[in-house]
Amino acid sequence: MTAQESARTVDTLTGGLPTKASRESELFNLPGPPLDSATLLFSSAVMGFVMAAFSFSAARAMPNQRASLRLWGQAMAASGCAFLLYFLRGHVHWNISYVGGNALILLGPVLILQAQTSLVGTQGSRAWPTAIVAWGLGGVLGSVMFGLHSNAGAITVSSAIACVALAYMWQITSHPVTRSLPAARFSAAVGALTAATFTWRTWVAITGQLPSINASNPAPSPAHTSSLLLGALFLAAASISFFSMAHEMRRRETENSARRDGLTGVLTRAAFFESAEALFRQTLRRPVAIAMVDLDHFKNVNDRHGHAAGDHALAHMAKLIASTMRSSDFIGRYGGEEFVVLLHDCDADTARRFGERLVDLANRTRVRMPGNQTLHCTLSVGLACLSTNGAEPAETLDALVARADRALYRAKAQGRNCAALAGMAG
Ligand code: GH3
Ligand code: MG
Ligand code: MG
Repeated sequence: MTAQESARTVDTLTGGLPTKASRESELFNLPGPPLDSATLLFSSAVMGFVMAAFSFSAARAMPNQRASLRLWGQAMAASGCAFLLYFLRGHVHWNISYVGGNALILLGPVLILQAQTSLVGTQGSRAWPTAIVAWGLGGVLGSVMFGLHSNAGAITVSSAIACVALAYMWQITSHPVTRSLPAARFSAAVGALTAATFTWRTWVAITGQLPSINASNPAPSPAHTSSLLLGALFLAAASISFFSMAHEMRRRETENSARRDGLTGVLTRAAFFESAEALFRQTLRRPVAIAMVDLDHFKNVNDRHGHAAGDHALAHMAKLIASTMRSSDFIGRYGGEEFVVLLHDCDADTARRFGERLVDLANRTRVRMPGNQTLHCTLSVGLACLSTNGAEPAETLDALVARADRALYRAKAQGRNCAALAGMAG
């Protein structure tokens, strides 16, 4: 018997040993009426296509998540086509059904991982998904073309799917947005179950006990039935969690853009004080400082270069200020060309150094204006520091801001282009 004929006789999800019906029913007799393969394969195919249609229509409605939803739709379509090809085994050419079906069943999970990384905006590796697909397909092509044992395809494809399911689970549980969503936790659990089932299926194939399954087999094995059930459950659960993640990302983006100033991209005054007040309500264990930053003679910039150029310079200076902060600090537009910065864990010395560094950086920078002109724009900084030891803050946020504002006034009075630090409160 040729390798192709041998593989043709097994007709399993991913290939498997031809086995005797009697031994099979002894080994894998299920209690109650068996779940037949044809129904499971067809239902999984329909599930894949329904989820693909839903993803593509959601991609049109959510422009910011379009790329990731399209990838998800392609993943579902690939999985649906794979299950359809398994279902049609015996009715379409063997190579199309066996090689094509297994290629698509491997492509689906890889596209799922890509959709996931595209949604959360991280950079996923391409090397190892390619290696997993190559490994999975290696066994399939090896048994068809080079006469490898017909179970080789079942072993490599099942183990590849188990690896991708583990990676999917890790991806979901390691990202802060996805980790917190109940739907994502559920689909991470389904991912774990899928990984376990396909590991078991790999083991059954290695030990040579993977029985012959085809669409008309009345008594499929538990390894086979559970992989098909998990396949269908995975498509549904992972899709629902993906859609809810896409929805959550959109909600966060909308919320975030409402909190940002349209011109400079920093927090609005209201959003800044909301966040800063929230911090003040907690027990402050480390000192905090407020910096008020005002651009010098900005009226002249508008008068000389026009309001549009002034807008451009203002946005540039906001980025320059933000570039000097640590990730735990935050900045808001206090009004006009004045900004307010909250510096975490910042004592008087650190605050003074921050102010001097900022003044120095602005002094050394030339803002590139439209039309290749450059602009020298200096700024003045007023700083006030609040020391704390875990007890009630010694003063309110408003009082701290007012002290920083008075220090800014001093910096302006001293000739601008400098920083001034307010004395400690009380
Ligand atoms: P000082 O050094 O005392 O701060 O002088 P100044 O000219 O910067 O201060 P003043 O308060 O007199 O003027 C602020 C200027 O900032 C006037 C206003 O047109 C400009 N400004 C405020 N908001 C914007 C804005 O959104 N876009 C532009 N282009 N200019 C703005
Ligand atoms: Mg000013
Ligand atoms: Mg001002």
